[in-house]
Amino acid sequence: MTAKLLRGRTLSFKSRPQARDDHASYVYETDGAILIENGLITAAGPFADVKAAAPVDIEIIDHRPHLLMAGFIDPHIHFPQMQVTASYAANLLEWLNTYTFVEEQRFADDAHSARFATLFFDELLRQGTTTAAAYCSVHKGSADAYFAEAQRRNLLMVGGKVMMDRNAPEALTDTAQSSYDDTKAVIADWHGKGRNHVAITPRFAITSTPAQLEAAGSLAREHPDLLIQTHLSENDAEIAYTLELYPDARDYTDVYAGYGLLTDKMLLGHAIHLSDREMAAIAEAGSVAVHCPTSNLFLGSGLFDLKRLKEHGVRTAIATDIGGGSSYSLLRTLDEAYKIQQLRGHRLPPVENYWQATRGNAEALGLVERIGTLEPGTDADIIALDARATPAMQIRMETVTTLEEELFLMQTMGDDRSVRHVYVAGESVDL
Ligand SMILES: [Zn+2]
Repeated sequence: MTAKLLRGRTLSFKSRPQARDDHASYVYETDGAILIENGLITAAGPFADVKAAAPVDIEIIDHRPHLLMAGFIDPHIHFPQMQVTASYAANLLEWLNTYTFVEEQRFADDAHSARFATLFFDELLRQGTTTAAAYCSVHKGSADAYFAEAQRRNLLMVGGKVMMDRNAPEALTDTAQSSYDDTKAVIADWHGKGRNHVAITPRFAITSTPAQLEAAGSLAREHPDLLIQTHLSENDAEIAYTLELYPDARDYTDVYAGYGLLTDKMLLGHAIHLSDREMAAIAEAGSVAVHCPTSNLFLGSGLFDLKRLKEHGVRTAIATDIGGGSSYSLLRTLDEAYKIQQLRGHRLPPVENYWQATRGNAEALGLVERIGTLEPGTDADIIALDARATPAMQIRMETVTTLEEELFLMQTMGDDRSVRHVYVAGESVDL
């Protein structure tokens, strides 16, 4: 049995914070500890208490003064787009056609997919992201490479082979039947292997025929425990084209609902331009609106309406959306999310932001029993964050007196340099 005790300031969320000083929503220990045994958190709390209950010869790793939290979770990211980030385009559809649909064709080559699986997880871990939900490419081999590398590293990763059978280059399209068959094979080969979770992944309505969305709906019915991921209402031209392709749908959201895809397993990337009817339908279904702030700003797509979504009772998540997004860092992403809500006149407290990036995103993925908190019994995916990572941060920290101020400073000025240490299932990772 391998056991260790991490000492540091510890922070774990209990519920969505309702205000900047909602202290009841989290547990914060200024001298805390986390006991890890066989990859699981078995105790967390004040250092003196956890130490007293631990084996006398326990290995103690002292992370003070850093902040120990659950690893960040990125619930919308594209594994084949590492070399698409920072592509100069006027809007979403130009960006897809000019850069993304060209780059993703390279993942037909299994050696290329394997190389990028290594690079992808290296980068996520450097950024303190211990779980992601990723779109692979249309090729089954890209999903094989993704899950093989995740399993090799004992990471909890969600992913799916993209389903797309129209409005893309010939080399990047499958068919309704082959996308169904390949997804079935990915599920059989990888779901539940190691810590892997397979997601049903129709890219978005524009690149799927009605027959393919029908096939995706069949997969959702046959595998009701699997997540589903797609894109919704990112950009005005995308919405208009979708409604041309699906003239019988009441609106964009109704396209997915019509094929049985609007469920409490559905992750809806972007979800920016929504009517009250759509928000009500999404809330009733229990689907998740995934905010991708750096992507939405980079592509000029629009400003996520967090306040209205919350008023409608829609579940939310926050994600990078690499390569439309411009940073792998959840800290950078939280900063841009805050700024988008500033433009909308809505205050987004730092504690709510950090809740979203950890426990909130775990709830969105239906995985809060495993990740996203420091609760005993969950997997020990843990990061140590440093609010003094740069000279400018050190100077600013001289005036900081509360946890809320420190979190805000770190999301505003921090990035991968604030991520000092990462544990995956209790094992230290070389960054
Ligand atoms: Zn995306």
